[in-house]
Amino acid sequence: MKYNIDDNGYYGEFGGAYIPEMLYPNVEELRQNYLKVMAEPEFQEEFKQLLQDYVGRPSPLYFAKRLSEKYNTKIYLKREDLNHTGAHKINNTIGQILMAKRLGKNRIIAETGAGQHGVATATVCALMGLECIVYMGEIDIARQAPNVARMKMLGATVIPALSGSRTLKDATNEAIRDWINNPVDTHYIIGSVVGPHPYPDMVARFQSVVSEEIQWQLKEKEGKTNPDYVIACVGGGSNAAGAYYHFLEDENVKLIAVEAAGLGIDTGESAATSVLGKEGIIHGSKTLLMQTQDGQITEPYSISAGLDYPGVGPMHAHLYKSGRAEFISITDDEAMKAGLELSELEGIIPAIESSHALAVFEKKKFEKEDILVLSLSGRGDKDLDTYIKYFEL
Ligand SMILES: *Cc1c(COP(=O)(O)O)cnc(C)c1O
Repeated sequence: MKYNIDDNGYYGEFGGAYIPEMLYPNVEELRQNYLKVMAEPEFQEEFKQLLQDYVGRPSPLYFAKRLSEKYNTKIYLKREDLNHTGAHKINNTIGQILMAKRLGKNRIIAETGAGQHGVATATVCALMGLECIVYMGEIDIARQAPNVARMKMLGATVIPALSGSRTLKDATNEAIRDWINNPVDTHYIIGSVVGPHPYPDMVARFQSVVSEEIQWQLKEKEGKTNPDYVIACVGGGSNAAGAYYHFLEDENVKLIAVEAAGLGIDTGESAATSVLGKEGIIHGSKTLLMQTQDGQITEPYSISAGLDYPGVGPMHAHLYKSGRAEFISITDDEAMKAGLELSELEGIIPAIESSHALAVFEKKKFEKEDILVLSLSGRGDKDLDTYIKYFEL
């Protein structure tokens, strides 16, 4: 079994590029060039330099001693929360802005739900002096005021999506419409391992710096490159893809993907895409997504804004279908408890997305000798209001 992309842009039966005719030239230009550009030594050098000096990589691989004692196993945290802008998303936006420049694009568009990807995109546009337009649902703009302010400070134009449910999927439609109308000078930065081929593969490769670092860091600490388990939360799947990447073909490394169950799998208020999803097409790729009997996309729900995406990237759909990764769903309550526990035991306040991954330790028993690496995808500063309300702090 192969877990990486094939020549046609598929992970098993998932992936591909299901796009309107008018988008074809843009996607095709990217498809023909992305691997060539990424292989250029100057590209690699500039990417590595920015990851080091601007993002602050390598991010530490931290042995969480007290957490490990509590669960009687060996837990390492991959500290993506320490990156500039507070999460893993910047690894991808740095990569894509360099790609856009190589392809001669001077205008950047993106869509954002919670605003985290919008901020990461606005950040790299400021860094490179490129025009930045971020589409965001009108409802999300009202819910995520601090991130909207950040994007504006960084010089981006935030355009509200006023149609449909006025959330992420409507913002995505607006961004695609913009790209169709501006095929020559515009690059569309997608924020996760979703979208038409080659986006899932390109984003996974940019994020793969995470597992590349885990290998040499673990070698230093444990004398071997591969852990027994890699654990990560999954929204679209990019932090998980980055943490899994160099371990995909080694079945001795077990992969755990954590989805948001919201109020519970059976409550209708959930974002557990693999369990609840059916095959369908969203955002230009064939994958698993939550939909009604007649194929309308259902609104997902999770307390963490970064996990309430109705689909999952094609790599993860394949990891689920093939059984390569174990999928575990975590409710709002379980995640919030785990977030508080990490704060108290290790002095690290995690993003609520990452708290979902942390909640696995209560759900699943590990051996004392097991070496676990957990992707701590982001820091909790952005979630303080939610923590305050939930715990009445
Ligand atoms: C956006 C986000 C996620 C979910 O996105 P993936 O593409 O699944 O990684 C997870 N954690 C944090 C902190 C995020 O900002």
